[in-house]
Amino acid sequence: MMEKTAQLYEGKAKKVFATNDPNYCIVSYKDDATAFNGLKKGTILGKGAINNRVTNHLMRLLEKNGVPTHYVEELNDRETVVKKVRIVPLEVIVRNIAAGSLSKRLGLPEGVKMKRTVLEYCYKNDDLGDPMVNEYHILAMEWATEEEMDLIASYSFKVNEVLTEYLKEAGIELVDFKLEFGKTADGQIVLADEISPDTCRFWDIKTHEKLDKDRFRRDLGGVEDAYQEILRRLLGE
Ligand code: UDP
Repeated sequence: MMEKTAQLYEGKAKKVFATNDPNYCIVSYKDDATAFNGLKKGTILGKGAINNRVTNHLMRLLEKNGVPTHYVEELNDRETVVKKVRIVPLEVIVRNIAAGSLSKRLGLPEGVKMKRTVLEYCYKNDDLGDPMVNEYHILAMEWATEEEMDLIASYSFKVNEVLTEYLKEAGIELVDFKLEFGKTADGQIVLADEISPDTCRFWDIKTHEKLDKDRFRRDLGGVEDAYQEILRRLLGE
């Protein structure tokens, strides 16, 4: 029986606990929501449980399709056992349709389909506001090796293919999303963190209604309902 011991870390949306086994951690999802690098704070009722269950559902799907992940076992609504990893300090952003910061940066209206999938990397550092970096920075700073970056890029494209196809069946357009990777004790690169309405842009395929954290970021209302709708479409409840 896996049990929580010391709290290792508390982030904006999750807590991470050590367990009695050094190779595993337990993550506990919170209802707290932040945006704009912590400037906007709030609560999204039920978010923790929804993000936990949606993430695990998608991680299991990805494992089946050849993407190694940190997922081990869902303990309850909010808590999941994951492999202990050292997080590669990068946010990998995958974009199919222009939105958010890319629309601002390039002057592309939101909703314009990109001719090819775009990968971006940001250095995970709150004090610096997660600046965008390229592969030269990553190699120079030794945040990852060339071999690890090749794996991270190919897994990211595979995640995009699998999720785009799967979500389409649920009437959801996968606009963009953020991934994080970690390295296990034995040196394997695995998908880590979460895949949820907090970290993805999900649009209704027909109406283009936003079903993700943009409802919170932009004060659009119906935040809880949007998260609930994603849970319903993916897990049928
Ligand atoms: N994203 C995230 N965490 C971050 C930054 C971005 O999960 O710290 C996700 C975001 O939800 C979106 C995608 O990555 O699905 C691209 O975000 P973008 O760069 O457009 O930034 P934003 O507009 O969210 O500030």
